[in-house]
Amino acid sequence: MKKDIEIAQEAEVLPIAEIAQKAGLTPSEIEPYGYDKAKINLDPTIQRNHEGKLILVTSINPTPAGEGKSTVTVGLADALQAAGKKTMIALREPSLGPVMGLKGGATGGGYAQVVPMADINLHFTGDFHALTAAHNMLSAALDNSIYQGNPLKIDQRRVIWKRVLDINDRALRHTTIGLGGPTSGVPREDGFDITVASEMMAILTLSTDLMDLKRRIEKIVLAYDFDKKPITVKELGVAGALTVLLKDAIKPNLVQTLAHTPAIVHGGPFANIAQGTNSIQATRAALTLADYAVTEAGFGADLGGEKFMDIKVPKLGKTPDVVVVVATVRALKHHGGQALADLNQEDLTALEAGVGNLGQNIKAMKRYGKPVVVAINRFTSDTDAELALVQQAAKAAGAQAVTADVWAQGGAGAKDLATLVVEKAGEVHDFSPLYKEDDSALEKMTKIVQNVYGGSAVELSDKAKKQLSSFAEHGWDKLPIVMAKTQYSLSDDAKKLGAPKDFTVHVREFVPKLGAGFLVALTGNVLTMPGLPKHPAALDIDIDEKGQITGLF
Ligand code: ADP
Repeated sequence: MKKDIEIAQEAEVLPIAEIAQKAGLTPSEIEPYGYDKAKINLDPTIQRNHEGKLILVTSINPTPAGEGKSTVTVGLADALQAAGKKTMIALREPSLGPVMGLKGGATGGGYAQVVPMADINLHFTGDFHALTAAHNMLSAALDNSIYQGNPLKIDQRRVIWKRVLDINDRALRHTTIGLGGPTSGVPREDGFDITVASEMMAILTLSTDLMDLKRRIEKIVLAYDFDKKPITVKELGVAGALTVLLKDAIKPNLVQTLAHTPAIVHGGPFANIAQGTNSIQATRAALTLADYAVTEAGFGADLGGEKFMDIKVPKLGKTPDVVVVVATVRALKHHGGQALADLNQEDLTALEAGVGNLGQNIKAMKRYGKPVVVAINRFTSDTDAELALVQQAAKAAGAQAVTADVWAQGGAGAKDLATLVVEKAGEVHDFSPLYKEDDSALEKMTKIVQNVYGGSAVELSDKAKKQLSSFAEHGWDKLPIVMAKTQYSLSDDAKKLGAPKDFTVHVREFVPKLGAGFLVALTGNVLTMPGLPKHPAALDIDIDEKGQITGLF
């Protein structure tokens, strides 16, 4: 079987102007970046009054390899396109952390990919570099203000704005800066997060336009002063400069699938430590230009799915018409106790024990009232008996399941899925939000834990309790909550696989993100700067004298 990169390298890629035309964009609405990439530089929603159906692809709790959400998103869109439906994809941009680390890229796989695969997975149109630069420029401005006499009276022990890098680097989690004497700054403790966890990334993906971006940047809380008053970017005075650095990054990127379906790939917050969905502008553009906009949210329905419904939907002003939960036989066997090394072996006992994870993720998504279907992402090792068992489990949880063979066959492998999605998208169902704006932070989190994760309660550390009372003084205590939690389990303990019951989720700390407009609740021992595994993907990546890349999965 060919590698993803080999399939991508052999693909016939059309000039981006042709793809733009197919999407209904005029030449002046795009800004080509070379042959096969472009920025959409004029908001297509201003000229058009159209709203397509929104299809949200999410999944069960994944194994470390990912379960094929991007692959199914691309394959489903190609199948819809082949069925004559005007379709567009809205995906997130890959982060170099997983590309060089463990999981791989985010351009799909097999015959269901977006291209140019290597470019998108590496530096693409530079959005993440711009975000990293803007984020760190803000750090530099903050430290410079402290150094230049500290007019804002920033308490350097209470700086909450860390630096970022889009690389997995555990050695940078906790650092000391400003060493080297009086001319090298004021020493203080600092640390790095991965760029995809940056509030800048969250802001970029939630902003509706450039001025919204600037207003949100102004609201970022960086630190507290000696009277514990929050210090914002507005007071530091650099919101304009930071917006300038992001003026191109805010424009959605246009590419294509192997079957030439137009795809917007824009923004990339992780779903375990951030809000996990692509940009509002990307999804809006896809909805405006197409009759079917197929989008995804990161990791499982408990993380990206919940955040899509509770954080993105209110800003987007549109609810999904159909939710597709991707499941794999392999991951469900792992949830039922089968070792990762043995996942290619049939094991109906482990599968039976693991399907509860699918059941809970279906239940979590059905809670919002919209139709839920299951796409079983077929691997060559799956047996008919295993596929039938997953189908029954989905049915028992109230969702119809179909097998999708998009990795091997592209859109042709998702005909049944596309038919089912079109049928369900035609139904009318009310959306039922999980929590009210006015619910307290604890009420919001408790509703998430009980309805989405299937757990029983939330426990706050002393620090988290204290933070909530100080947030109440600042009027931040009713903001939406972004749960930062392991992706591997429905609980906050990565080792509790399947569908654990009666568990408590532990919140150790909150990070207020006022520009993004939410509070991040750090649960369990989730980290905002990942480390590289023992055998990083980087060890297998190479390039030859002709510039041919190998090992990019
Ligand atoms: P996710 O979006 O859930 O993180 P991806 O779609 O990025 O997952 O897929 C992760 C990896 O798994 C990719 O390298 C892809 O090629 C591979 N993959 C996905 N589906 C299949 C499949 N059905 N058979 C074999 N490999 C697959």
